[in-house]
Amino acid sequence: MTFEQLGLSKPLLAALAAKNYTTPSPIQAQAIPYVLEGRDLLGIAQTGTGKTAAFMTPSLQRLAANRPAMLKPGQIRMLVLAPTRELASQIAASAEAYGTGLKTTVGVIFGGVANAKSLRTVSRGLDVLVATPGRLLDLVDQRAVNLSMLEILVLDEADQMLDLGFIHALKRIVKLIPAKRQTLFFSATMPKAIKGLADEYLKNPAEVAV
Ligand code: AMP
Repeated sequence: MTFEQLGLSKPLLAALAAKNYTTPSPIQAQAIPYVLEGRDLLGIAQTGTGKTAAFMTPSLQRLAANRPAMLKPGQIRMLVLAPTRELASQIAASAEAYGTGLKTTVGVIFGGVANAKSLRTVSRGLDVLVATPGRLLDLVDQRAVNLSMLEILVLDEADQMLDLGFIHALKRIVKLIPAKRQTLFFSATMPKAIKGLADEYLKNPAEVAV
């Protein structure tokens, strides 16, 4: 199996080759075709399995296929919610690397980043924003982000987000996002509370487990 056979476009194949990824990992092989089709996805996978590229590369391809001429101030097209600043930074770095040839705009915000800097990050709109839930809500409350045109929502390490007490922030954020969206939901474990959240947020999801 190759990344080309999974349906990824030239700019993404080049970015993956530049990272020396020769063969898709199991979660990449399973998830990429579904995400390219626009399906919702429930992924049961730990960090270290290659799940970031599994959700990011096909999402970037979809975003690039119908990019509007201009984004509105604060407009976000793809939102990735992650539990910690470390994970958010890693995901944003991956999005930058994979999106180079597609001219994807990427921003990251998390607790501890100065408010003025966060406001600058989102001011012109972004293809991809990676955020921790609390910090994103700060920006929502300042009306600095506009989630009403969001196309793709990713919840990464959902179990960690619940453990860290982000459930209320998460629910408030998702309420602001159109129901007509693609949702990708990742968790290492699937206790009842997570399954309930997945059932609420996903529509007819494809399921992958590694
Ligand atoms: P992740 O699970 O997304 O945090 O990725 C784990 C690590 O595997 C990261 O350091 C990636 O750079 C690396 N990685 C992801 N996909 C591949 C691949 N197909 N081939 C080689 N390394 C990969």
